[in-house]
Amino acid sequence: MPVQVKTMQERKITTTEQSEQTRVDAVTPKAQVSFEFFPPITGAMEKTLWDSIERLSVLRPRFVSVTYGADGSTRERTHAVVARILSETDLTAAPHLTCIGASRGEIDDIARRYWDMGVRHLVAIRGDLPKDVEKYRPHPDGYAYGSDLVAGLKKVADFDISVAAYPEVHPEAPNPLSDLDNLKRKLDAGASRAITQFFFDVELYLRFRDLCATAGIDSNIVPGILPITRFPQLTRFAKQCGASVPDWLTRRFDGLEDDAETRQLIAASVAIEQVRLLEKQGIEEFHFYTLNRAELTFAICHALGVRPQQAAA
Ligand SMILES: Cc1cc2nc3c(=O)[nH]c(=O)nc-3n(C[C@H](O)[C@H](O)[C@H](O)COP(=O)(O)OP(=O)(O)OC[C@H]3O[C@@H](n4cnc5c(N)ncnc54)[C@H](O)[C@@H]3O)c2cc1C
Repeated sequence: MPVQVKTMQERKITTTEQSEQTRVDAVTPKAQVSFEFFPPITGAMEKTLWDSIERLSVLRPRFVSVTYGADGSTRERTHAVVARILSETDLTAAPHLTCIGASRGEIDDIARRYWDMGVRHLVAIRGDLPKDVEKYRPHPDGYAYGSDLVAGLKKVADFDISVAAYPEVHPEAPNPLSDLDNLKRKLDAGASRAITQFFFDVELYLRFRDLCATAGIDSNIVPGILPITRFPQLTRFAKQCGASVPDWLTRRFDGLEDDAETRQLIAASVAIEQVRLLEKQGIEEFHFYTLNRAELTFAICHALGVRPQQAAA
């Protein structure tokens, strides 16, 4: 192999990068993490979910959230997963609760039931539109939007509430400013933090964080990190929720359709790069859309310095 002679300039860059790397790795991790799961449908999915919860629980997440299907379609299954988390683990369970397609009375009853079983944290969300519905119409007796839901839940009990935020603007919002106003309304109604829709360009998140600060939002805007398990599924999700998939990301997965092993390595490197960049910008809290799989999330947390023994200490 030919010996490559480096210029002084190149050497300097390498040394600076290395010392930066050493500095970052030496720092005691400050990162706090939370994980999202969805209620399983089949027995096999159930096993994967519980294996993943077990594997990730040693990282001592701040909370683990469990999604709720559009118009309450997973109500019982969400409830069952939350009940089992409460009875079999020492994790803080945070059920998602959506208001689409339900009356205020029904939502309040569910919230009361959660409070009685020991739930103190909710993720309050309007909910996705059902497949056959094009335009959102609130339930005649329901909470119309996320902000109404937060205000209603706060009247039921003093829950710690997380809400959703959109660095690339919610697809139904008439314009970015009104979407920002909406986020502020949800926080002013009593939510403690916002969790963002997933994104891949860190710049998008940072710009959004600046906009939030300008709008007088001082609550934590926790970045939602989606480790990519399957690229075609990701592009489908992204289209539905108005998140962009940058060209550089498509190129990284290009040609790996039949190579799961390399895909997994690329997915880990993409997300690790993302969280490290965010960390350098002062972000200390991360929410992971695990899709009920532990491997990638565990690896990314490891890179953030979130490890079992440190967490226990
Ligand atoms: C962290 C996170 C978790 C999620 N979990 C789930 C889940 O478990 N189940 C599920 O079905 N979906 C979930 N979703 C998806 C979510 O349901 C959709 O993004 C939904 O379309 C919006 O929910 P929201 O709470 O942000 O809505 P809202 O805050 O109510 O906003 C919805 C839209 O209405 C606009 N709006 C708000 N108030 C008004 C008003 N007064 N007048 C006119 N327009 C208004 C907003 O600008 C926005 O465009 C989640 C999303 C995120 C980011």
